[in-house]
This record gives sequence, C-alpha cells and structure tokens, in this order.
Amino acid sequence: MNQTHFLNARLADGSLCDLTVAGGRFSAIAPAANAATPPAGAIDLAGQLVLPAFVEGHIHLDTSFYGDAWRPHIPCTNGFDVRERVAFQMRNLEQAAPMEERAINQLELCVGNGSLAMRSHVMVDAAVGLKHVETILGVREKYRDLIDIQLVAFPQSGILSSPGTAELLDEALKLGCDLIGGLDPASFDRDVKGHLDVVFGLAEKRGAGVDIHLHDRGTLGLFEIEEIVARTTASGMQGKVAISHAYALGDISADALAETAERIAAAGVAIMTNAPGDHPFPPVAALRKAGVTVFAGSDNIRDSWWPYGDGDMLNRANMIGYRSGFYEDWELEAAYDVVSHAGAKALGLEGYGIAVGARADFVALRAEHIPEAVVAVPKERTVYRAGREGEGPGQLSGEASLPRDSLCADAARFRAGWGLAMKKEYTKPTLARKGRLSAQTAQQAGSDSQAPE
Ligand SMILES: [Zn+2]
Repeated sequence: MNQTHFLNARLADGSLCDLTVAGGRFSAIAPAANAATPPAGAIDLAGQLVLPAFVEGHIHLDTSFYGDAWRPHIPCTNGFDVRERVAFQMRNLEQAAPMEERAINQLELCVGNGSLAMRSHVMVDAAVGLKHVETILGVREKYRDLIDIQLVAFPQSGILSSPGTAELLDEALKLGCDLIGGLDPASFDRDVKGHLDVVFGLAEKRGAGVDIHLHDRGTLGLFEIEEIVARTTASGMQGKVAISHAYALGDISADALAETAERIAAAGVAIMTNAPGDHPFPPVAALRKAGVTVFAGSDNIRDSWWPYGDGDMLNRANMIGYRSGFYEDWELEAAYDVVSHAGAKALGLEGYGIAVGARADFVALRAEHIPEAVVAVPKERTVYRAGREGEGPGQLSGEASLPRDSLCADAARFRAGWGLAMKKEYTKPTLARKGRLSAQTAQQAGSDSQAPE
C-alpha cells in the first residue's frame, strides 16, 4: 500500500512528529526523525500545528446567500419572530441564485477553512416540499470525496402547523436524510407532545438521529428540554439526539442548570451552540463539567436570519471562548474541543483525531499550540483529506468527482497520491460581493438583532 509521509508535524502536546498515512488513515506516528534523506515524496510541515479537521456541526446549506448578491437584513416588525423571519426568507429565496450554486459556495468556504465533516439542516415544508432536500442530496453526492455531510430534514415551518409536513419529513428520511429536525415545539406548533410524537416516531421508524432547533427561553424552553431528554431515554436513543441553541440553558438559575445538565448528560443528548450575538446561550463550561457534549456550528451564514458567519470553525471556537469568558489555557482548549472532538462525538464520527488508525483528515497551521490557535485564528492553513476507509490517497474517485479545479490549488498533487491540499487564502471570483450596501440598507443596519435560524 502506498504511504505518504508528513514530517515535523507539531502535535497538540507540543511534540514534533512524523506522520505516516496509508489507506487514508494514520498508520504511524513517531518522534520526528530528522533523517538526512527523508522518504521520497515526504511533505515537510516544518513545525506547523496539526489538528484534526474541524467539525461544522450546524449549518444551513440551502438558505445561505454566500457568494450571491448581498441581502440586506430585514428587521422584524415587533421583536424577534420566527414566523416573520421565515416569511422574509421565503421572499429572499425567490430572488436568490440557484440553490446548488449557493450551497456549493458555502460548502467550499467551510472546507477551505478546514471542516471536513458537517451537519446541515435542510428545509422541508408544505411550500417547498422536498426540493431543497433533493438539491442538497445532489450536492452531498458531488462532494462526498471531499467532505462528510449529515443532513437533517428540518421542518422550518413547523410540523403540526404546516399540514403535510410529517409525511414530507418521512419521505426526506427515505431519500437519504440522516436525521429528523424539529422547531420550537411549544412556541411554533403550540403542541409539545404532538410535535415530539412526530419527531421521535419518525426517528424510530427510520433509525434516524434527532437534532431539534430550540429557541424557546426560560421555563418554557427548559420544559421542552426535559421532554426531549425523557423521550431520548424512553426510546433508547442516547447519543443520537441533539438540541440546537437551547437558549433556555443560558437564562436559568445555577441550581436549575445543574439539575438539568445532569439529566441531559445521562440521556446522552448533545447541545449545539454557535455563541450567538446578544442571546443568552448554553454555559459551555458548566455543561461540559456535568458531562454534556457541547458542539458548535456556524448556523446561518449571510442568510435571511443574520448577515454574519464565515464558515471558519476555529474562529467559532474563538467566539465561544470570548463569549464564555475563557482565558486560561485549559479553557481555550475546551473552546477548541467544542469545534473538534466534541463535534465528532455529537455527530458520531468514526476514526476522528490525530492517532494511529484515525482517518487522516487534518489541518496544518502556524501556531505553537491549541490556545494560541484559538486566540490568533491563523487564516493561512492547509487542509488535508486523505481518503475514506478502504481507499488510499489518490484512489478517490478521481478528477471528475473533485470540486472545481479552482478550489483545489494543489489538485495535481492530490491526484499524484498524497491527499488534497487547499490554501485558505483562495477566494473564488463568484464569492466576491456582487451587491452594494444601499442607502436604505445603511439606515436599517443595526436596528434589529435576530436569533439564528
Ligand atoms: Zn439553524
């Protein structure tokens, strides 16, 4: 079997090592040999920090306008209102570039920043039917050699309040979605039991995971979290359920949090946060201390919910650390863990990490150690995708299945057999902002801040 050697890789513990990759996995990790004659074709990483590829745990590939015309943010009429935001989104999407193009723009942004595993929610409702799911399934297939994507059938317009959605969600799972989503069972559908009956019923029927958007705050949100936790345990789905946002965990008393966190941990329910703007968000340190898996995602990137997002999970770790008041090295390492190992655990990824036998999907960047990487967020980085199980570097499906040549600055080397390298600084021409801030937009800017989708 062909081997590829990466020399002088700095690992998280500071040691300098030589990494050997065979069959798409690390086959050996040994102290740097500094051999006078390095193995043929060896790549010298020259002391760069090597981290496992990041995990983008929550994104919306179908609704972003990244790479499309700039869409000025429209404020809600009377404070944050999910229904109103969904209506804005529908209007925006009618005028947007084709979904596949927008999804690919966003996907390539994430891959270039070092995420090689992703969970994307995809809208399913009576109005759009399965159109979004079908398009994003096609994008996943095109990019399967480059990134592992889990898809969540996401009832953006509720389930009970959007007749026909339950059947469509079932169909979406049959088509290939991996998880079933949900949306504020109480405030949106006004029927927690009815909403969760459909979600967990379909999950059990199709053997799918669950990932529910939950923006409801305070005791209402806490009640829904408890219901989700109880159902997870009752249906034996420990480790397969996630709650995204769970703002309620950020605005309850420490005692209530401690009690709930213990239950969440016992049920193996993961909590996703993107450390959102001006919202209370789950206390990362306290939840981790209680044994809860906390992971992260970009969520919305330049869409109808907010204009922010850059697809860089290392930057997301920085935001999580900043908003959490993390200063000490172990805390900065925790922020990094949220976008890497914890994400891998939440998504159930196999063979994650820098270890013999793990999949050789990694990022090399200039930082002395993880705490420095989290605070400095080096933009220059190289991303390596060494292949799927049973396939060696260079044995992936070949040129035709690779993304557009423009993305793969080093596609030739990839084809020559050592994995794929992409330069972070690359920016596709289509990613340039096509629109310009209008006077009207300037007036609107800053007048409203919204929760993520
Ligand atoms: Zn979302």
